[in-house]
Amino acid sequence: MSRPARAAIALGSNLGDRHEHLRAGRAAIGALPGTRLLAATGVEETPPLGGLEQPAYLNQMVLVETVLSPHDLLRALQAIETANGRERRAHWGSRTLDLDVVRYDGLVLTTTELTLPHPGVATRDFWQRELAELAPHDG
Ligand code: ATP
Ligand code: CA
Ligand code: CA
Repeated sequence: MSRPARAAIALGSNLGDRHEHLRAGRAAIGALPGTRLLAATGVEETPPLGGLEQPAYLNQMVLVETVLSPHDLLRALQAIETANGRERRAHWGSRTLDLDVVRYDGLVLTTTELTLPHPGVATRDFWQRELAELAPHDG
């Protein structure tokens, strides 16, 4: 069997009990088939993106080892978002839980569903800080 992949997943919440949504998200990610949590960053509060009037976000990033393919991982994360009360409305609108695949090994790909690495890496300082925080665990 091939070696599992390493993926960085960003969690964000700006509605309801934000800490509880992050906690539930981490637990659900760790319970995915063939997936193991390796490390998690601290939780950081950031203003909302996109200039919309909405509450501040709590953000966190986790590093996982997974045998799921990139698309299977994305679909599993979307199911976790839905299970945690997320309703799909405006892009960048408020949500109980947002889960983004920030990177998946060194994979570079663009499909209609999934872009890797996530294009937000280039502009989101907090993601760059979180990736640096995870780097020592990604040996
Ligand atoms: P952003 O992706 O800029 O942080 P967002 O998280 O608010 O914005 P969503 O509405 O959650 O955006 O997702 C829009 C679509 O982005 C999803 O339906 C998904 O198919 C697509 N997508 C593309 N690449 C990724 C990725 N790396 N991780 C998560 N979703 C992605
Ligand atoms: Ca996002
Ligand atoms: Ca998202």
